[in-house]
Amino acid sequence: MSKGRVFSGARPTGRQHLGNYLGAIQNYVALQEEYDCVYCVVDLHALTTLRDTEHLREWTREMVLDWLAAGMDPEQTIIFVQSHVPQVTELHTILSMVTPLGVLLRLPTFKEKARQQPDNVNYGLVGYPVLMAADITLYKADTVPVGVDQAAHLEFTREIVRRFNNHFGPVLVEPQAKYTDFPKVLGTDGESKMSKSLNNHIEIAATPEEILQRVMTMVTDPQRKYRSDPGRPEICNVFQIHRYFADEATMSQIDADCRAAKIGCVEHKKRFAADLAAYFAPLRERRAEFAAQPDYVWDVLADGAQRAKAIATQTIAEVREAVGLP
Ligand code: SF4
Repeated sequence: MSKGRVFSGARPTGRQHLGNYLGAIQNYVALQEEYDCVYCVVDLHALTTLRDTEHLREWTREMVLDWLAAGMDPEQTIIFVQSHVPQVTELHTILSMVTPLGVLLRLPTFKEKARQQPDNVNYGLVGYPVLMAADITLYKADTVPVGVDQAAHLEFTREIVRRFNNHFGPVLVEPQAKYTDFPKVLGTDGESKMSKSLNNHIEIAATPEEILQRVMTMVTDPQRKYRSDPGRPEICNVFQIHRYFADEATMSQIDADCRAAKIGCVEHKKRFAADLAAYFAPLRERRAEFAAQPDYVWDVLADGAQRAKAIATQTIAEVREAVGLP
């Protein structure tokens, strides 16, 4: 029996942080066991919000280095850059003909982006979901990993596929959601989602010293002003993130010690930083090996693009035939 095909894309954002790791990368790596995976650096999507594009190449390389170091296997998985397979823009145009403009303009994600950048409400922002639908359908992916809160995005793709197939015949694959519990990882400020732009992030490939430095700035239980005050691990971000990188027994002990004020926040943070550094040590080593070969990432991406193009060419030929393009 052939495996299903997963597609997922991520904007090139450079070195990855704990939020990226827990929210996406870990899952990307695990899915390789069960599916044929197609993972894409969506550089065209990035252009919709970026004015300053000079770092795109560097951010692509840095992000893919982290992906590979985390265990994405380029032999098994197709890893490529969206714009290296230009058929996606052709499919985007064709799919845009079966997409009502009113629906696009009413989407909450478009409205939010338009609010965030009122001086740059470009067509790309409006057409973003159509390009996303083109990404998924070009590679005939039948499965897309999504968090429950992103279900509407995929539903939009499914609607476009149904509309296209009803009109032109059953060419495109209607993808199914693979719901995954993506944890929302808060940044070092303990308030906002971890994000590079807010500078509240901890990079997965950071050195142990850098990790410690970042962890030491983390906000803990605000009610715990003195070492003698009992703490509340359930609302402490250090505790909440540490859970992903330590065993249950360790965390139960810290939980009990925090509530009884037997452990101080500094001591816990040092422990957390050490656990993080140890967890990511193999990743750091692999990353350094890959980074020492200047062409490695670009070779992986070129090979990925070639394999992605083979699928894309076939799909586009079927789409053109169905639509009746001469
Ligand atoms: S001891 Fe740990 S869990 Fe308790 S408040 Fe401090 S950092 Fe948070």
